[in-house]
Parts: sequence; structure tokens; C-alpha cells
Amino acid sequence: MNTISYHYDPQKIKTGILHIGVGNFHRAHQQFYTNKLLEFEDQQQWGICGVCLLPSDEKIINDLKAQNLDYTLTVCGRNETNQVYKIGSLNELIWGIEDPEAVKEKIADSNVKIITLTITEGGYNLDKETGKFLLADKKIQEDLRNTENPSTVFGFIAEGLSRRKMRNNGGVTILSCDNLQHNGNTSKQAFTEFIQAWDKDLAEWVKNHVTFPNSMVDRITPSTTSEDITRLNSSSGIADLAPVYCEDFIQWVIEDDFIAGRPEWERVGVEFTDDVTAFENMKLSLLNASHTLLSYPSFLMGYRKVDQAMENQNLKKFVRDFMDIDITPFVPVPKNTNLEEYKKTLLERFSNQSVSDQVARLCFDGISKFPVYITPNLDKMIKADADLTRLAFLIAAYRHYLKYKKDDKGNSYEVSEPWLTPDDEQLILSVEPLDFLELSSFKSTGLRSSDKFVKLYARFADEIKNQGTSPVLQSILNKLP
Ligand code: NAD
Repeated sequence: MNTISYHYDPQKIKTGILHIGVGNFHRAHQQFYTNKLLEFEDQQQWGICGVCLLPSDEKIINDLKAQNLDYTLTVCGRNETNQVYKIGSLNELIWGIEDPEAVKEKIADSNVKIITLTITEGGYNLDKETGKFLLADKKIQEDLRNTENPSTVFGFIAEGLSRRKMRNNGGVTILSCDNLQHNGNTSKQAFTEFIQAWDKDLAEWVKNHVTFPNSMVDRITPSTTSEDITRLNSSSGIADLAPVYCEDFIQWVIEDDFIAGRPEWERVGVEFTDDVTAFENMKLSLLNASHTLLSYPSFLMGYRKVDQAMENQNLKKFVRDFMDIDITPFVPVPKNTNLEEYKKTLLERFSNQSVSDQVARLCFDGISKFPVYITPNLDKMIKADADLTRLAFLIAAYRHYLKYKKDDKGNSYEVSEPWLTPDDEQLILSVEPLDFLELSSFKSTGLRSSDKFVKLYARFADEIKNQGTSPVLQSILNKLP
């Protein structure tokens, strides 16, 4: 296959962005845009220094370092034609576990004008009920006691900014690229609350020297398994230890609020706007919420690939009904967006066979995803006395998935939920299905006080256990006009 390689000279690229969380999504999205931008000679100060802070990042660090930080990205078309890109915009890479000092120094570096983040929804350490920063968290308290040796992203950024302030190295923009409601405002709140507890003078400096634009990010990027590596390399003809693959759709809408300057990403298709709310709301409510809606029911029905689940006409209709009946009435449409076309494209994207995303990836960390993708609209639906059938079924399926760890076909599986609290664990184990509605994810919604919701949910929890997921879904669809 023909690979599109970059043409700029890597020696000429300077680091202007520090990115924390060099996962698959970052390497398919921000790096993809930036790699294109670096072709412009006047933009070559915007190379990216990647930073990873977790012990589990060791493999990706070693693999990327073994190949000069270059890697291949395979963009999988909906028409089944794939295109491989060689990406060179990752200019430096630091593993905080091995060299924490280098991370702090890089954050303080005056050439770094932007700190971008993909640290997952759960990484912001927010109370799921109140949305407040969890200052009492054990690791946060350790960082506050031992400011010289932080381990969390909050401690690293506070220490780096502290040095930046001391050296008069100027302001910096913190740009969250995670799927959160108002990801800029949310990260501002999290970092500000942490820094307030760390050093009040620094918190004052941050007020005047750090901006947190909101942004909407979009590109479906599956996890890369070892089988994927073999498959991708044999197709590209390139021996890459750390290839990434993703869909052909890409979008990034950012509020233009960069205190220390920014790359001219608009040259390569990024949209800048004054207010990202409508874009973000539409994307989280339609794409991410539909992903979650599809995830647990289809996993329990035995599907492990999203495109295969979408071939099941019942699941496809379930998702489409959710978009049309449950979400559309509550989602303001951004300017110049055709909502009908957007929804149609989403179904095509989910069905993309060359991406063949993992259902397990959609199931990962539901406890952090529900408060972002599902409960804000569910709240509105309860208040509007709307039909709650599909969401009651989803939450009953989520409980079944977490509690029984066996799908309809009798296959066992591992659950991956890094942010469950001990209370959550007890609520999942309880034999009383209604206890599950007290889970930390649902606390802010007060599901138990909606009789309509409780009735539907209790019935579905029972029916899924006794009949399996598939017949219950069928019965839901039979009742629709
Ligand atoms: P990934 O598992 O490939 O990468 C996750 C990265 O986050 C890793 O580098 C890890 O070290 C880092 N991380 C996790 N928890 C952290 C913490 N507490 N502190 C610091 N770093 C932490 O996952 P991914 O596919 O790259 O997705 C990451 C995030 O990107 C998602 O959670 C989502 O918010 C956003 N996103 C992903 C997609 C997608 O399709 N994959 C699409 C849009 C947005």
C-alpha cells in the first residue's frame, strides 16, 4: 500500500506543545492535524512533546523510542479503502515515571505555549454527583503533601507552572481534548481547585496567565491489539511497533482563547469558534451517548465488534430510535449543521467495517462515561416526562454486565472499570436491582425518585436476567409504532 510520508525535515521541528496522555486517540487526531501543519515552514515551531505519566505506558514509550518517535496511522475509509500516513510530529517523548524532572521542566519551558490533554474522562478526578474536584482523594493528598515528587497530572502541572511563574516564562494554554461536558471549563475547575490547595499565589498567577478553551474532538479510534499490529504491518509493509488505526471522519472545533499563541491549525481543517457548546453537546449526546447505548446491550448479546453489532437490525433500530426520539428534542443544532445528515453519517461511521471498533472499548469505564454522556439528557427527559424505555433498558443492561460477567451466550468476560468506588462495588453486588440506581454515576440524577424510570428499569433488570438481552430488546422494538 502507498504510504503518505511527511516531507518536512524533523531536525527543523521545535517543540511548542506538550501533550499528556499519548494514547491512540491523540496519535490519530491531534498528531494527524499537526503532522499536516508542520509541512508549512512557518508552523514548524509547533512540534509536540508527548508525556506519559502512568506505569502502564512503559510499552508505548519503549516502542516509540525504538523508532525515532515516528509511527504509522492507517485511516480506514467507509468505502473500504485505507490510507497509511507516516506521522512525524511527535518531536520528543518523556515518561514521567522514569524522568519526572524532565516533565516539570518541559511544562516550565517558555517555548511550550500549549499543554494538551487526553487523560480520559475519569482522569479529571471529579465527584460524579457534584462535579466538584475530589481534593480528599488519596493520590491528590499525597501530591499536596509531597510537592517535590508529584505523581498525578495535577501535581506535575502545578509544579511545572510554579517554575514557569518563578522564571517569568509567560502564560500557557491548557487544552483538554477529552470527551467531557465543557472540557475547558471542567479542566479549569479541576486544576484551579488543586492549585488553590497547593499554593494560593500560584492560583492567582494561573487566573491571569492560563486559559482553558473548550473544544470538541471527534475521530473514532479503536485500541490497537497485537493482532492489529500484525494485520496493519502486513498491509502497510512497514514494521511499526506502535501503529494506530482510525476512521476517516475527523473533526476538531476549538474556542479561540490561546493566551500564548497557537498553531494555525485552521490551515489543515480545524475549526475555531467563540462558543463550542452546541458542537460539543451534539457530539456527546449523539455520538458518545449512542456508543454507550449500543455498548452493554450488544456486548451481552455476544457482539465484540461495533460494525457487526450494527448489522443486527434490532440494535441498529434501537440506536436510531434513541437518536430520533430521545436525543433530538433536547439537542440544539449548531449553525450550518444538518442534523438529519449528521445522524445518518453517525450510523455509517459505526458500521464502518474497516475500522471494526471494539465493543469492549465502548464498555470501558462506564462509571465515568454515564455522567458525561447519558445522565445530562436523562435528567431533561425525566423532567419532560418523556419515554424512558431505552435508557431504563440501557441501565438495566449495564447492571447485568457489571454484576454477572456472563453474556447471553454464556461467555465470561473481564470488566474494566478503573474508577469504581468501594460503595459502587457493594451496590453492584446487591441482589436488589434498585440499589444499583444509587451508583456514583447516577447520584446527581435521582433515578429512584422517578417512578416511571424505576418501574421500567426493575422490569428490564428482571427480564434480562430471566430471558437474556436479545428477547427484551425485541419486545421493546415490538411496542414501537
Ligand atoms: P488510550 O487508552 O489509548 O490512552 C489513554 C491515555 O490516557 C494513556 O496515555 C494514559 O496514560 C492516559 N491516562 C489515563 N488516565 C490517566 C491519568 N489519570 N493521568 C494521566 N494520564 C492518564 O485511550 P484513547 O483512545 O487515546 O482515549 C483517551 C481519551 O481520548 C478518551 O477517554 C476520550 O476522552 C478521548 N477521545 C477518544 C476517542 C477515541 O475514539 N478513542 C475519541 C474522542 C475522544
